[in-house]
Amino acid sequence: MTTSRHVAPARSAGGRWTAAVRPPAVAAAIGVAVAAVVALLRTAQLPAGMGALDMTMSGAGVGVWVALSAVPAAVIGLLGPAGPATAVARGLVIGLLWWVSWNLTLLPLLIGVRPGWSSASVTVGFADLVATLLHGAVTGLGWSAVAARVVGVARGPDEDRADLPRVVVLGGGFAGVAVARRLERLARRRSRWDVTLVSDRNFLLFTPMLPEVAGGAVQAQHVGAALRAACPRTRVVLGRVDEVDLRQRVLRVGADEIPYDHLVLVLGTEPTFHGLPGIAEHCLTLKSLPDAARVRAHLLTQLERADLALDETERRRLLTCTVVGGGFAGVELLAELQDLTRSVLRYYPSLEATQLRFVLVHSGDRILPELGAKLAQFADERLRSRGLEIMLGTRVRGATKSALVLEDGTEIASGTMVWTAGNQPSEFVRSLATEHARNGAVVVDATLRAVGVERVWAAGDCAAVPAGEGKVHPPTAQHALRQGRTVADNLAAVIAGREPQPFRFTTIGMLAALGHRTGVAEIRGWRFSGVLAWAMWRVIYLAKLPGLEKRIRVALDWLVEIAFPRDLVLAQEVPDATGRLGPAPEPSSR
Ligand SMILES: Cc1cc2nc3c(=O)[nH]c(=O)nc-3n(C[C@H](O)[C@H](O)[C@H](O)COP(=O)(O)OP(=O)(O)OC[C@H]3O[C@@H](n4cnc5c(N)ncnc54)[C@H](O)[C@@H]3O)c2cc1C
Repeated sequence: MTTSRHVAPARSAGGRWTAAVRPPAVAAAIGVAVAAVVALLRTAQLPAGMGALDMTMSGAGVGVWVALSAVPAAVIGLLGPAGPATAVARGLVIGLLWWVSWNLTLLPLLIGVRPGWSSASVTVGFADLVATLLHGAVTGLGWSAVAARVVGVARGPDEDRADLPRVVVLGGGFAGVAVARRLERLARRRSRWDVTLVSDRNFLLFTPMLPEVAGGAVQAQHVGAALRAACPRTRVVLGRVDEVDLRQRVLRVGADEIPYDHLVLVLGTEPTFHGLPGIAEHCLTLKSLPDAARVRAHLLTQLERADLALDETERRRLLTCTVVGGGFAGVELLAELQDLTRSVLRYYPSLEATQLRFVLVHSGDRILPELGAKLAQFADERLRSRGLEIMLGTRVRGATKSALVLEDGTEIASGTMVWTAGNQPSEFVRSLATEHARNGAVVVDATLRAVGVERVWAAGDCAAVPAGEGKVHPPTAQHALRQGRTVADNLAAVIAGREPQPFRFTTIGMLAALGHRTGVAEIRGWRFSGVLAWAMWRVIYLAKLPGLEKRIRVALDWLVEIAFPRDLVLAQEVPDATGRLGPAPEPSSR
């Protein structure tokens, strides 16, 4: 390995708290304290005749009022680090929401009055509005002032952590972020280790929402959480790992070398095409954010081309969308693409819904093999009833520029072809000098230590984690997340001279969204289907999305999507016939 630049970790997971690292509970506590002070000041100076707020003048009333106003103040803190302007803006927005929900709605109900917009209530309400907005703004300002003081006391120069064990986490997905965050938590009060996270993308991708990004229901950036925000006390290195020397304990990212004492491999998987001809060249995939954006752009471009196509056969080909793979990704994607197309079809008067064709090709005997047979059957029937074609027990031989070729030689002429039928650890992971399972995953013991190499751990999709009886844990986000936490706990144990513990976890449940406000779910043995399962999908995944801000953004996307057709705007270059991005095609070639 050639040496060019030695990267010494500069920030420690055991460092002191800074603005970005204050735990949400502390930020919220500051908000509550400020709220109490502001509320007391406000009630003390409340002009007489402010309607319902007069109750706050009594001793008990003040207490209740302080407790109630502490909630929005805590929210200001929970929303994350903010300067004075942002904190005031947050206070104003929360004040407005508070006024509508509490002063105008809940309070009248509590005192037996019908909530309404009569001139009297609006006049009184307006005074309340001004007072509540002021309260929100002052609380925000107070919060930021107190927070700034705490930060000022706690922020120190970057410390030299050369004396601490160096942990390098390779991969910024579910498992990688879980490792880093857990290590941050475990070292909250004192420096215990030095953590560096290396990833070739600067965000954690929330993959369960990728089909919705491809379908245009959710904006692409909203399903990613920036690594620096998710793990503020971890040193983040953006780059692709090229080489690891497991004996010298050093890895290379471009021109930089990063030494480690403990290495955590959490590099996930990438699509595999099983050597089938033409698949890599002509099929799109759904593994990354650019993939999802490309699928959406490609499908919308095919609609534009179909609109101009004079030949009926070509037009039908352009309007045919074929997805290979009947697992969660394939099923959810095809359903989303149908929703997208149906939603925007009104803008293409020359195209008809009957000309659209959606085909799912799956080698198994039923779709969604991860779910019980009954739910899979329900999903199958629902999708077929919406006109989707599902070909079970069907293998693919390859693909040409214009068609998917099945094993028996049948060709499905398609304008859009997406491959979701297989992932495996990257060539880089498979080439590492560790023990590998048949699919190339790093074999680990029950405590997630790589077998046969020292100080190397692995978790998530790139690891073969024993689940007993010769089985391994499935490659899902819920497993990756928990394996990441176990790796961190075990690292802490080993560094402290304790015994690492085995990873134990059984799948909590599985949910799939089938488009058209329907879904299927199996949670702790309970089965749900239809609109209830769809609502559960949305609530559960929204709650799991990292960061309150992203949750709000996705919720707003969903709200907009209910009222308006999906967006047609192509923010990137027009893809060519294979889906690759390039200059827009010449009109004559259409
Ligand atoms: C479309 C889709 C839908 C899914 N839906 C669900 C679902 O609903 N529920 C569920 O539980 N699971 C779901 N999954 C599976 C889930 O996404 C994975 O199990 C999970 O992401 C695995 O986490 P991980 O940390 O092991 O890998 P990943 O999340 O893939 O993270 C790997 C990270 O390593 C980085 N990386 C890779 N190679 C390098 C390199 N050489 N150098 C630097 N960085 C590198 C990658 O950029 C990435 O950040 C879905 C997957 C897909 C594709």
